[in-house]
Amino acid sequence: MDVKPRLPRGRQFFANPGPTNIPDSILHAVAHVTVDFNDPAFLAVYDRCVAGLKRVLRTEQSVFMYTGSGHAAWEASMVNLFSPGDTLLVIESGYFSENWARMAQDLGLVVRSVAADWRRGAEIGAVEAALAADAAHEIKAVCAVHNETATGMVLPLPAIRAAMDAAGHPALLLADTISSLGSLDFRMDEWGVDVAVGGSQKGLMLPTGMSFTGVSARAMAAHATSRLPKSYFNWTNMLARRHRSFVGTVPTSLFYGLEESLRLIEEEGLEQVFARHARLAEAVRRCVRHWSGNDGPQLFCLSPDRYSDSVTAILLPEGHDAERVRRIALEAFNVSLGGGLGRLGGKVFRIGHLGDLNEPMILGTLASVEMALRLAGVPHNPGGVAAAMDWLAEAAGQG
Ligand SMILES: *Cc1c(COP(=O)(O)O)cnc(C)c1O
Repeated sequence: MDVKPRLPRGRQFFANPGPTNIPDSILHAVAHVTVDFNDPAFLAVYDRCVAGLKRVLRTEQSVFMYTGSGHAAWEASMVNLFSPGDTLLVIESGYFSENWARMAQDLGLVVRSVAADWRRGAEIGAVEAALAADAAHEIKAVCAVHNETATGMVLPLPAIRAAMDAAGHPALLLADTISSLGSLDFRMDEWGVDVAVGGSQKGLMLPTGMSFTGVSARAMAAHATSRLPKSYFNWTNMLARRHRSFVGTVPTSLFYGLEESLRLIEEEGLEQVFARHARLAEAVRRCVRHWSGNDGPQLFCLSPDRYSDSVTAILLPEGHDAERVRRIALEAFNVSLGGGLGRLGGKVFRIGHLGDLNEPMILGTLASVEMALRLAGVPHNPGGVAAAMDWLAEAAGQG
């Protein structure tokens, strides 16, 4: 059955795993008149933002910020830490680990990878083995995507750090927290992460265009000897500025937004933010498990201890097109879902459940997806939304 496109009315349900919904108070905050970025009033906002970001990253070490999306922070990390021909160990997780590896190669670095089945995730034993085999310590860094947004899987960073320590290997640990920061537990200093890469448009609920890195003292020492070419992103050049970031103009409006984002997150409390994400994510998974009856769609992630609480990838039964489900959800119900990335294109769609989100929003999305499955003729066990409702009501009753 084909659907009749309608004029979009009401609010679009935006269920992508990034960018994410921007709360009204942040939209109002970013609509700020132009200010001089050296104005004392702005500098106070700026300094509060950097301090707040450190609290969210759970670090007391350095933070550098960039005008650019998450990829800019990836590139900044690599050019600031490494020299031509350095070797990185990239833990395969999915589309984003592949892109990280490709960028490293483009920059003249050598990539070794810990291969993984995208549905089950890498074995930490394989990371330890790769490090133990590197007696000459050629590997300068281990790169891990904390939350693989393409597959809906979390990598256990503390276990990766433990494997590095067990192997007695001095490599740095680089973590991409772009789709986990502000929605899943992350502790840069406690977990021994040397560089944490984050972006504005996911858990922080901001417009796209700002990214940042938390940088450990060990990583700063590596920076001192790195020889990859760099200028705009050079941390040393940044440190010479009052803002200790931004060689050029500071994106002031994003900082007014970030100040409000941090206020919202800390008003709710980081632990409560994580609990809300866990609650909503479990509702999505219960719904999908229900749909999976009658040879219906399934959770893509097959490792329950690694389920992501910020995004769920849903694998369609063989012979059914995930893009068609997405198109119907958008055209008939004004619900925007995430598509399958890279080799998962057409096979999975993704429900983003991170950022500014509550129970009715997730239930509306799930109900719309169920209608889209029906309209697309995808087999499923109807009534998944009731399973989500049961769970959410139970979770609310537990307070
Ligand atoms: C979104 C995302 C990126 C890419 O960030 P951009 O802001 O789009 O450049 C990188 N890694 C992960 C895990 C992401 O979710």
